Amino acid sequence: MAKSYEIEHPIKAFGWAARDTSGVLSPFNFSRRATGENDVQFKVLYCGICHSDLHMLKNEWDNSKYPIVPGHEIVGVVTEVGSKVEKVKVGDNVGVGVLVGSCRKCDSCTNDLEQYCPSHIGTYSTTYSDGTTTYGGYSDLMVANEHFVLRWPENLPMEAAPLLCAGITTYSPLRYFGIDKPGLNIGVVGLGGLGHMAVKFAKAFGCNVTVISTSFNKKDEAIKHLGANSFLISHDQEQMQGATSTLDGIIDTVSAEHPIAPLLNILKPHGKLVMVGAPPKPLELPVFPLLMGRKIIGGSIIGGMKETQEMLDFAAKHKITPEVEVVSMDYVNIAMERLSKSDVKYRFVLDVGKTLKVD
Ligand SMILES: [Zn+2]
Ligand SMILES: [Zn+2]
Repeated sequence: MAKSYEIEHPIKAFGWAARDTSGVLSPFNFSRRATGENDVQFKVLYCGICHSDLHMLKNEWDNSKYPIVPGHEIVGVVTEVGSKVEKVKVGDNVGVGVLVGSCRKCDSCTNDLEQYCPSHIGTYSTTYSDGTTTYGGYSDLMVANEHFVLRWPENLPMEAAPLLCAGITTYSPLRYFGIDKPGLNIGVVGLGGLGHMAVKFAKAFGCNVTVISTSFNKKDEAIKHLGANSFLISHDQEQMQGATSTLDGIIDTVSAEHPIAPLLNILKPHGKLVMVGAPPKPLELPVFPLLMGRKIIGGSIIGGMKETQEMLDFAAKHKITPEVEVVSMDYVNIAMERLSKSDVKYRFVLDVGKTLKVD
């Protein structure tokens, strides 16, 4: 009987995996491929816990492949490189985000937009080009093609791993939709893992930032700690009416159902509402407010490899880092439980390097 690709992978690896839709993670022995000529192998030091990890663990998007080793905000140090690798060398700090592969030939790929490649390959719980399942960063080591490996800037703390998903997810739409200019008024809806990064990047671009949230108790944090200029309670009609036609752009990070009419109302003419959260059900789209002011609604997901590197370099230069709570590997199930209740400011990061104990 032919061996599965998994068995033929010669490199022993160890991580934490969920075996079923309970989503509970526990220690897991598996294997990685040998470092190919274009591959980079690295020891994982930190891995962020993204909200999508939680969805995937419980198969909430109906595409999970068990066992799942999650994690796509991965930072570590290079242990081996293939003969053709030019980007990094042994001992360098590197990162891997949401993607580990794409076709490299389509229009999206040739325009540095690998995230929109129809054949893009996710860092975990998808099928790699050799037929094996991909495993993410809740593990001791990673192997990835150098094209999908980011150089980690020297003065960027390694626990800033959430830049690799939460960071690029908010940086890319601010850039692409041109809502990154000094003096523009930018709204950020939702103040979680994504929202707090949107605030930080928009501030760094010189924008005036308004946080729009359902919870009043985030006001102090938004203004005093994160540097937002103003704060609106989304269900306070008087406040929202008072902000009519004030914003040039809005980054909407909310992944629950929510009304978008009040958001369109606070956009100026030509304003842009960009969705980066992923509500499971369709939202109601009122068309009239779009006509009255030639407004645009768009969407965006992560960023290409070139832009992700640019974002990391920008973050290092402007000292932009996510607010993180670093936790040990054996805390991961509690962290997931807390994340499901939004009980984290604003991102958990697993200290894989120091706390993953190999069985
Ligand atoms: Zn993510
Ligand atoms: Zn492609």
